[in-house]
Amino acid sequence: MTRVLHTRHELRAALADVPRPVGLVPTMGWLHAGHRSLMRTARARDATTVVTIFVNPRQFEDASDYSRYPRDTEADLAACAAEGVDIVWVPEVEEVYPPGFDTTVSVGAVAAPPGHFDGVATVVATLFALVGAEHAFFGQKDAQQVMVIRRMALDLALPTEVIPCPTVREPDGLALSSRNVHLTPQERAAAPIMWQALRAARAAYDDGEREGAVLRGLMEEIIATEPLAQLEYVSVADALTLRELRLIEGPALFSMAAVFGTTRLIDNELVGVKA
Ligand code: AMP
Repeated sequence: MTRVLHTRHELRAALADVPRPVGLVPTMGWLHAGHRSLMRTARARDATTVVTIFVNPRQFEDASDYSRYPRDTEADLAACAAEGVDIVWVPEVEEVYPPGFDTTVSVGAVAAPPGHFDGVATVVATLFALVGAEHAFFGQKDAQQVMVIRRMALDLALPTEVIPCPTVREPDGLALSSRNVHLTPQERAAAPIMWQALRAARAAYDDGEREGAVLRGLMEEIIATEPLAQLEYVSVADALTLRELRLIEGPALFSMAAVFGTTRLIDNELVGVKA
C-alpha cells in the first residue's frame, strides 16, 4: 500500500517506525521511466522507499519556466503505486518552505556558475533532514547535480548516502526528461542530436583522442548540423572537479546543454570510469 502524505508532520510520523534502510527518490513529478528506474533501484536496495514530488520554485531561473513546468499528480501517484513505493510526499510550497524560512545551502566550485545550484542544494538538504534516509537515488542525467549533492552531503556530514543511477533514454537516444513534453514534433525529432554528438565524442575517445579542444570541436560540429538546436555549451571536464580539460588523463565528463525552441535540454556521458 502506497501512503500519500502532504505535511512535514505526517511524513515524520509515518517514518518513525518503518522498516530500515530507507531509500529516498526526490523528484519534481511528471514521472517517466527515468524516475521509475530510480524507484526500482531504491526498492531493490532498501526496505522502505520514499518518493517526494515537489516542483521546487527555488531552482527555476525564471517564473514562467516554473509555472509551465508540467504537473500531473494523479498520474504520478499511479506510477509510484505501480512501482510499489511505500510513501509519497507531495507537499505544498509552504510545507517545504514555511514562513520565515531563511536558509540557503550554497556549494562551492563544483556548483559553478555561482548560485546556480543553491535552490537544488537547499531543497535536497531539507529533504534529507526530513526523511533521514540511508540512501538517496539521483539520475546521472543531471551529472552536475549529483556532484553538488554529494559534495554537500559529505561536507555537512549528512547521514544519507548519494547513489547515482544510469540515464534512461528513448530508443533514439534522447534522455528522458519531464521537459521533453514541451518539444514540438520537429524539435523532438531533432533532439537526439545531443546524444549523437556525445556518442561521437565517446567513439573518438575510445579511438585514443584525449584533447579537450578536439572533442569539444567535434561535438560542436555535430550540433551545428541541426538547425533546430541552439548550443548553449559543450564541456569536456574532469569528472571529479568539473574543471575544463586541455588533456584527458583520468575520468572525464562530456556534457552539453542545448535549446530547442523554448526548451533547454542537457545530456552527458562519463568516460574513463567503470560502469
Ligand atoms: P526531476 O524530476 O527532473 O527533478 O528528476 C528527479 C530525479 O530523476 C533526478 O535525480 C534526475 O536526475 C532523475 N532523472 C531524470 N531524468 C532521468 C533519466 N532520463 N534517467 C535517469 N534518471 C533521471
